[in-house]
Amino acid sequence: MKLRPVKQIIKAMAVTEGAGVTVHRTIGTPALKNLDPFLMLDFFHSDDPDDYIAGFPDHPHRGFNTFTYMLDGHMQHHDSMGNKGDLGPGGAQWMKAASGVIHSEMPQQSSGMMRGFQLWINLPAEQKMSTPAYQDFSPDAFPVVENKGSRIKILSGEYNGQNGPVDDPYTQVQFLDVTLDKNNTFTHKLDDSLQGFIYVFEGDAALSGTALPQHSFAVLGEGDTLEISAGANGARFIIVVGKPIGEPIVQYGPFVMNTREEIEHAFADFRDGKLVRDKANFSDVRNAPTRA
Ligand code: FE
Repeated sequence: MKLRPVKQIIKAMAVTEGAGVTVHRTIGTPALKNLDPFLMLDFFHSDDPDDYIAGFPDHPHRGFNTFTYMLDGHMQHHDSMGNKGDLGPGGAQWMKAASGVIHSEMPQQSSGMMRGFQLWINLPAEQKMSTPAYQDFSPDAFPVVENKGSRIKILSGEYNGQNGPVDDPYTQVQFLDVTLDKNNTFTHKLDDSLQGFIYVFEGDAALSGTALPQHSFAVLGEGDTLEISAGANGARFIIVVGKPIGEPIVQYGPFVMNTREEIEHAFADFRDGKLVRDKANFSDVRNAPTRA
């Protein structure tokens, strides 16, 4: 057994996105351009409507998946595939933008707390121009494993024999939301080939003995076991790992491809109204290659 240490701690950068929404970005900043297969992580948390009310009106994506996990507040989603979804507290949305999607994500409240994560997960080259797909999940879609002093909500991947409903066959993302009572320790076997991070968003914790105060983002070092302890006030954090894709990443704003030419092509397509090629095809999700 080798405990995974903290490899790097990233300080979140406040970034203005959409029509003027303040988000706290960790992956996708100069300190951590990406963490293969993850391209971007934004955490939004504010009870000041000025920080979120403008929302994210129509904008394009190509070449990757977006995953939004809502903790507090309501966001309405609308996209070029014809999907509409109301994302509420505890719910999540997975969108395979692939060849091209234009969508909007708009807050459905003018006061109160808005809190959640948006994670961008890369697609392998062979999938970047495939048919887009979309799924949303209500809070009760996610299995929860309760142990003494801990509560593990499984959004994606397998934990303790149970599977989260979000299944990304290309990068095998495991996404857990863990609540730990004070002074408890969470131990979890994690294949050494998986790369990822933890983000402490309530209380404070320690990873293999390294202190992680609230709002710490830590890249996981090499090892096969995670050991996370909660401080005197307990802790809540997400653990997110995936299989690296190992291909060149060329990113420009909402487009993430393998080469500069493909990015230029995406801009030309968007300019010419040709970014959206396909309507949603849910069978594309089910027929995706099985895990290696
Ligand atoms: Fe978006």
